[in-house]
Amino acid sequence: MNDGWITMHIQEEAIDSTFFTLEKLAEGVYAAMSKSGTGTWSNGGFVDTGKDVIVFDAFSTPKAAMELRAAAEKLTGKKVTYLVNSHYHGDHTFGNQVFADTVIISTEKTKELIEEKNSIPDLKKEKQMFQEYLDGLEKRLETERDPVILKSLSNQFIEMKAVFESLDNLTITLPNLTFDKKLTFHGSERTAELYCFGGGHTPSDSFLYIPEEKIAFMGDLATEGLHFPIDNPLEFVSILEKVMKYDIQTVVPGHGEIGTKEYFLIILKYLSHLIETANSGNALEEFIALEPPEEYKGWTGVNGYKQNLSRVYTFLNQENS
Ligand SMILES: [Zn+2]
Repeated sequence: MNDGWITMHIQEEAIDSTFFTLEKLAEGVYAAMSKSGTGTWSNGGFVDTGKDVIVFDAFSTPKAAMELRAAAEKLTGKKVTYLVNSHYHGDHTFGNQVFADTVIISTEKTKELIEEKNSIPDLKKEKQMFQEYLDGLEKRLETERDPVILKSLSNQFIEMKAVFESLDNLTITLPNLTFDKKLTFHGSERTAELYCFGGGHTPSDSFLYIPEEKIAFMGDLATEGLHFPIDNPLEFVSILEKVMKYDIQTVVPGHGEIGTKEYFLIILKYLSHLIETANSGNALEEFIALEPPEEYKGWTGVNGYKQNLSRVYTFLNQENS
């Protein structure tokens, strides 16, 4: 190994943006890891198949998405062909407009949800509601004593403020190609497989799998140390059980650091814990008063453990009635 190689290598690795850090996972496969407090909020990435460049998720502001696109095009030397939206949440889709000239892909359900939940019919009203929400967060920040919740609230405030500031320039941009269960991108260097096994975190969650290098961009089906929102706990479990059967070595989570399949096991354990507790026969008020088990005490999330427990409880009781 000579010095020239090292310098080149370091330069290549050090491509950095205000909003994210790029981690090279393989030649042509990069994870874009969110820098907290900048308005990126979630992780994304891009994959060069040799034929096409696929960007996975678009951050929470057009500004951050623009830098992601620029980095993808610089490093691959190709124009971005596709953007994938893993699910409808704004922190993965508010940058969509930057990719309006490419093919934006999601499931039919995710496209519907972006249209239904993210549309801004009245900007003035939206800004007013947003401001009230930020004021509410600020009030909670003043009175909250729990250090973990305080940290979550503070993160939420910073990220939402960045989104608020981008509202004037935000155009909700819908996917223009939808798929159902599986879509395969065939390239000369590698294939990339986009899957949807249903919805757990939201009513429809997709992930991108690169079999050649055993890498999976998971969206919010994998997160680190976070009381992630839950839409359907039972389907969440069945999705992750299916994902576990794939040969995956590197997991890019929607939030948190790059990891391994271990993430799925931790999340499955957490979901099982919530399901078991919610099924314990106690009334909602009784277990809402409980403290979370030690292993989840450090997890962040504005509404945290109790919110998820009530969500799972409500979900299961609807199922049973
Ligand atoms: Zn999400």
